[in-house]
Amino acid sequence: MNVLLIGSGGREHALAWKIAASPVLSTLYCAPGNPGIASVAECVALDPADHEAIIAFCRQKSIEFVVVGPEAPLVAGIADDLRAAGISVFGPSKAAARLEGSKGFTKDLCAQFDIPTGKYQRFTQADAAKSYIRQEGVPIVVKADGLAAGKGVVVAFELPEALDAVDACFDGAFGGAGAEVVVEEYLEGEEASFFCLCDGKTALPFGTAQDHKRVGDGDTGANTGGMGAYSPAPVMTQAIVDLTMRDLIEPTMRGMAEIGAPFSGVLFAGLMITSHGPKLIEYNTRFGDPETQVLMLRLKDDLLLLLKAAADGALDQMSVRWNNDPALTVVMAAKGYPAAPEKGSVIRGVDAAGDDENVEIFHAGTKDRNGDLIANGGRVLNITASGKTVQDAQKAAYAAIAKIDWPEGFYRNDIGWRAIEREKAL
Ligand code: AMP
Repeated sequence: MNVLLIGSGGREHALAWKIAASPVLSTLYCAPGNPGIASVAECVALDPADHEAIIAFCRQKSIEFVVVGPEAPLVAGIADDLRAAGISVFGPSKAAARLEGSKGFTKDLCAQFDIPTGKYQRFTQADAAKSYIRQEGVPIVVKADGLAAGKGVVVAFELPEALDAVDACFDGAFGGAGAEVVVEEYLEGEEASFFCLCDGKTALPFGTAQDHKRVGDGDTGANTGGMGAYSPAPVMTQAIVDLTMRDLIEPTMRGMAEIGAPFSGVLFAGLMITSHGPKLIEYNTRFGDPETQVLMLRLKDDLLLLLKAAADGALDQMSVRWNNDPALTVVMAAKGYPAAPEKGSVIRGVDAAGDDENVEIFHAGTKDRNGDLIANGGRVLNITASGKTVQDAQKAAYAAIAKIDWPEGFYRNDIGWRAIEREKAL
């Protein structure tokens, strides 16, 4: 099978690494890819926003199957366009990708199908949003409705902060994504990420993880796309997974089919495990980054066969096996991330750092300049390791980082702390 993977981040490098190991793969292409992906796939300089060019390339190279990594092309309808052209694709339709593209849509679906989540209201006028906030009081959460690259959420513990967040949204801080605002109850508990592969009818649990959103040690500083992750998430016991499937995932699958937008692709549930059980914070309709990096290190089965079964509506025939050893990834970012990462510095020692058989280094914002590896984005490398315990995996990841010579980069020193505290308490 010839396969095209769309995307260029650490998530896509991890997916490419796993797809490349499949015995049913002929050639793997990646658009546009990165220097790490280039070691396992043929990278092509195509713009994922140019659906016509992607389709033409698929025809030219006899590509039978396309895997879409990031959310933006899905929300723009790339899966619909590929399917209309007769090309099999892993990823939801534009209508189903509204689960990520509109927070208001998802909250309404939760209300309609009785899916546990925080109480909420949708607003298109600042005054109405502010009076609702005054009535509900703090803590409260203000969210831009649309895609805001993970930046459109304010968890406010003081009233002025919540009111300012409303103004920021309506004043265009998130462009069109903030034309509507969702104001939501603050949920208390432990967060976890839960993944399911879906084929429109069947949802197959596909692992758990926890990530670290804040830029600094001790979960301090600005919110980021994620500075590290580990899998599995200890809080996601089998009992919690079963409850999540029964009360959240299955009703979502039924609901989406009922409204004429059956969901296929990966459903990534951001959960709050509260004292009243799991509640939905948000859905994403693509793999998490950096969660995918740890999931791929633990997956025993053939990823390509699983993704193709999801695209073909055949997930009821499939099962998934995981390596029991936990995996952990530490993100190395360029100084200045997330506000203003400095690009262009040289990174040395990456190949030697990946020598340990328990370590994989996935590239995100890197580029090649005359044979030198250059930082070319905010999040640049994902140092990913497995071990008998989270603590072992953490040690292996930081030992690999110590071999990397990149003074212009930084990373958190405490990835996995919550799971390691649990391990120590046992
Ligand atoms: P989101 O982009 O919706 O995942 O929100 C980003 C982060 O904000 C989440 O990972 C949570 O830490 C926090 N958050 C979002 N919604 C809530 C909520 N209703 N209650 C508490 N924290 C929340």
